[in-house]
Amino acid sequence: MAAFTPRLPPRPVPIPCFFVSDSKSSLRISSRNIHLDDGTLAAGAVTCTPGAPLKLELGKRGSADIVLPDSVHIALGRFDPHVHFRETAIPTRREVEEFGPEGVDYDSLVAKIVAANALYSIRSGCLAALKGGVCVVGAMGNTPWGPVGPYRHERIQKHYTEHALFPIVMWPRMEPGAEAIMGHEGKDFGSTFGGSGLTGQTRRDMFELWRGQAVSYHNDQAREEESIVEYKKRIQPDEVLLHHEYFNGDTVLACQAETMKLAKEAGLSSLLARHIPTGPALQQILDARSVMPYALPAEVGLDYVYWCRERLLTQKRETALINYRRPAHPSREDQLSLIETTRDSVRSGDGSIFFGTDHAPHALASKKFKNGLPGAPGTRNIEHSLQFYSELVNRYGYTQRDIDLLASINPAKHMAQFFDFPFEVGTMTDGAMANLAIFEPEAAYQVDEAALASQLEDPHYHSAMTGESGLRGRSVFTVANGRVWNVEKAPMPLN
Ligand SMILES: [Zn+2]
Repeated sequence: MAAFTPRLPPRPVPIPCFFVSDSKSSLRISSRNIHLDDGTLAAGAVTCTPGAPLKLELGKRGSADIVLPDSVHIALGRFDPHVHFRETAIPTRREVEEFGPEGVDYDSLVAKIVAANALYSIRSGCLAALKGGVCVVGAMGNTPWGPVGPYRHERIQKHYTEHALFPIVMWPRMEPGAEAIMGHEGKDFGSTFGGSGLTGQTRRDMFELWRGQAVSYHNDQAREEESIVEYKKRIQPDEVLLHHEYFNGDTVLACQAETMKLAKEAGLSSLLARHIPTGPALQQILDARSVMPYALPAEVGLDYVYWCRERLLTQKRETALINYRRPAHPSREDQLSLIETTRDSVRSGDGSIFFGTDHAPHALASKKFKNGLPGAPGTRNIEHSLQFYSELVNRYGYTQRDIDLLASINPAKHMAQFFDFPFEVGTMTDGAMANLAIFEPEAAYQVDEAALASQLEDPHYHSAMTGESGLRGRSVFTVANGRVWNVEKAPMPLN
């Protein structure tokens, strides 16, 4: 197993001032470092207008509203296909009677939704995304009144569109007996359903309803032969590692193998493995591509490139104890092979591998250990997307081109199969959708929880990255469908 060594912090980079002219709807931004589709950097200017396509002029920088210093890059905006923004629409009594869930008490359902919505809003999620250079997300529907069946899916998609600061794709949630939605990608929470998982036949019937359609799934499950309580008694691991060693890489391999078999029997057109946490789990998907009769896109969990079990032990204990998610953080060995296999795969021209954060804004109280067992798994992390990319560039030889493919181009092309964007996405072309991430890759970065709580309008903010040294990357502007956001402090629209 390779040793884990923390890296020295980089030298702070002086921050130049930007000039922004009086408010107007079109902003021309010039730079020496525009990331082009062929992988090269070019000097030029981009013009961004809300709702209008990108105007790209190469070679001539000319006069501009914002002149970027040479340390700043303009890349395609990041698409994150996997977030949990928690909020959902409040249904009427009639909607619940007609569209379910059946047998639920209306008033207590609404009370549950109101409580969940109060803890985290779509707006906070969008602000966090913009901070990370992300301009489009795909949202999960594991909310109290989720997007189950065509009516609820459309209703909740509309609610998200109305409350979002940029396009959000609402993934329909698969449930036993719930009708499939043609042309969309269903999300199967089967392996964790209700906490304990669906039984094989129920999950099989649910997949059957989506014959010919695309599905994504949660790719880990509890061990079949031993509960976490029994495991804890037998092994008595360090509490920091309990969750990660119980839900180890083998629990992911078992779940992926089972799900791929179900997808074949059900005749799906595509099966996306979500939040892949280890090299062997990614390899299992890549190997299956030559065997299975359907497409096998792969979503690599972004924070697994940073966190591993060995690193958790170097973290402040109090934070390490709430730093768990599902799938669990990998061993250092499995992390290194994930980083390597992802890089090799994208460089070989694989267009269906991409990152997802699984941004999960749990309340601190729900994350605490209860009776010696970890609480709700998941962490806030989308706001630190840029710092995770920088880790790959600075420590593991990823190029900015690799990052653009994994964080912008490939996920945009995947999501565009299921959502009508106003213009072409995933390409730095004149006339494409104006989605940009503008950032200084080498700037030093440190988490300031209090500042982020206020900037992201997230009073319950806490971060698993608190106290981490050596982070790099400063987000400067994020452009979402032509709207330019200054994201250095609280995200502010400039046009
Ligand atoms: Zn998730």
